[in-house]
Amino acid sequence: MPAPYDLTRDQLAELLEGEPAYRARQVWDGLHTRVQRPDEMTELPAALRASLQAALPPALCEVSRRSADEGQTTKWLWALHDGARVETVLMHYRDRVTVCVSTQAGCAMACQFCATGQAGFQRHLSEGEIVEQVAVAMRAAAPRRLSNVVFMGMGEPLANYERVWSAVVRLHGSMGLSARHLTLSTVGIVPGIRRLAAETLPVNLAVSLHAANDALRDELVPINRRYPLAVLAEACAEYVAASGRRLSIEWALIDDVNDRGSDAAELAEFARPLGAHVNLIPLNPTPGYPVVGSPATRVRQFRDQLTALGVNATIRATRGAEIDAACGQLAAAAGATTAPAAVGLLPRARGG
Ligand code: SAH
Repeated sequence: MPAPYDLTRDQLAELLEGEPAYRARQVWDGLHTRVQRPDEMTELPAALRASLQAALPPALCEVSRRSADEGQTTKWLWALHDGARVETVLMHYRDRVTVCVSTQAGCAMACQFCATGQAGFQRHLSEGEIVEQVAVAMRAAAPRRLSNVVFMGMGEPLANYERVWSAVVRLHGSMGLSARHLTLSTVGIVPGIRRLAAETLPVNLAVSLHAANDALRDELVPINRRYPLAVLAEACAEYVAASGRRLSIEWALIDDVNDRGSDAAELAEFARPLGAHVNLIPLNPTPGYPVVGSPATRVRQFRDQLTALGVNATIRATRGAEIDAACGQLAAAAGATTAPAAVGLLPRARGG
């Protein structure tokens, strides 16, 4: 059974064969502009509404919905048709409404400190499964308008390139989201970044760096062994030149691991030539990684040091921590499986 947002316009027209030609456009606009389910499309005859609803059941089945930050943050856990589970987070800010979507069930990148990485890879999400997360968030955000989509939920967007890019095109072309309000976040898959540079839609790119020397990054973000920093920097420069967008660098501050003066200096060396903006996030604790986030004073010192070195940096406010909806905490299977044993990097001795 197709998911509503997996159908192309042509496939929708085919499904509506025998109906007047304008029906396909009505249903398409209902799905994308008014983000309605078929059974809510009152301009359709009742029988058609019912048969469409039966033919196009939602791809996302709500397992749970929790809210935090006085209702400003909502996290959904979804079951997909095959039982795979993913999460979506909606965040209301004063000036914008942002949804954080998942692109894969699980993730193969195995970043040590990330709950999704600790759980391993299940499968790619389809275009429709990605787009429907945005549609649900749009409905929940009303009467406010959902303005931003960040591909920073579970999974590595550039490891599921085709489907993620089709979703981007649909969000932009059919759901009215502007390219500069769409952000793809990557662990640093260089061929994906290069491919992105060749697309005509200039979306924002965020790179999850976390370490700016290869020895440390090899440990924290294992894909670095395949695409080391020098190669990554080149691809980022290519993207910035092609898109005209400012690059974002994500840096989760880990106590005594990547929050020292030398780390800030290395990061500045990487970020400055790219004109990148650095987002600092104190690490959110996850079950499989025995190290904690940097204390608040260290976070501010780190930011100040970057500023002094000529790099734009902001400290990102954490949302949804108490409902495990914060960065890197999304791990739908965590309750069902045991967390993997903690491995690898332990904090260095203090005072070094
Ligand atoms: N795979 C993509 C997108 C998903 S992760 C990527 O790596 O960019 C979204 C962001 O959360 C990334 O910057 C990731 O490094 C960060 N993150 C993962 N685990 C975290 C944790 N425990 N605390 C803070 N940030 C974390």
